[in-house]
Amino acid sequence: MEVSVLNCGTMRPRGARFLVPRMSASPCLCLLIEEADRLILVDSGLGTMDMEDPTGRLGFSNVLLNAERDPGLTALRQLRGRGLHPEQVTDIICTHLDRDHAGGLPDFPDARVHVLRPEHDHALDPPSRRERERYRRCHFAHGPRWEVHEGTSGEDWFGFNCIRNIEGLPSEVVLVPLPGHTLGHCGVAVRYGQGWLFHCGDSYYARAELAVGQKAPAGVRAFRSVAHLDRSCALRQLERIKGLLAAHGSEVATIASHDQAEYVKRFGRAP
Ligand SMILES: [Zn+2]
Repeated sequence: MEVSVLNCGTMRPRGARFLVPRMSASPCLCLLIEEADRLILVDSGLGTMDMEDPTGRLGFSNVLLNAERDPGLTALRQLRGRGLHPEQVTDIICTHLDRDHAGGLPDFPDARVHVLRPEHDHALDPPSRRERERYRRCHFAHGPRWEVHEGTSGEDWFGFNCIRNIEGLPSEVVLVPLPGHTLGHCGVAVRYGQGWLFHCGDSYYARAELAVGQKAPAGVRAFRSVAHLDRSCALRQLERIKGLLAAHGSEVATIASHDQAEYVKRFGRAP
């Protein structure tokens, strides 16, 4: 099984260059898992239609988020660029269904889409104004083949309740609920080589937030307060991730969707 990191969208939030330099160019980091002749994505980033009409598709908040129009960044185009066929994508696991994570779903209409129950229910029938803005109906209009996961399987992954041995997915893929950013937000751990790569979605935005005993930079803290639906729950998850790295950092590496430093580390340049 091969695992690689794709950037499937870049947002250049207006004003961030001065207020939150760490988030001035925010990638949408996804995972591509290649197993035999099939492909699995963790998150889908922005999709083809989002690139044609970002504000129309992503909503009013895109005036601030300022997603770059670059169709070459879509997972669809990147797979083709690697000589892979979009039809090989059998499954997409979504950390959550915010616009910048679910935008690529319409590009893979036949894939099964794995989400936790609260995420599915809130995205399809948003109970609040904030959720109506962040979840975009157009991303689900094609009728995704949902695989909705109820609760956890009562099993443990480094002290986290998790969902393991999911039918149709490799046993090396584990879902780890991390609610807070959204109510059904979920980390995805993938075992490969000697260790695990843990995609933490939007549980943190910048690697600086993982520093033990230090407050996150002020700009990142301000961004959290508007982006996390349940901020105190999200901060508890962040502490758990720090604890995981402190105890098992030799076995587990983390990645977060919008971490600019992670992008630079992987791609050797700024997004
Ligand atoms: Zn996000």
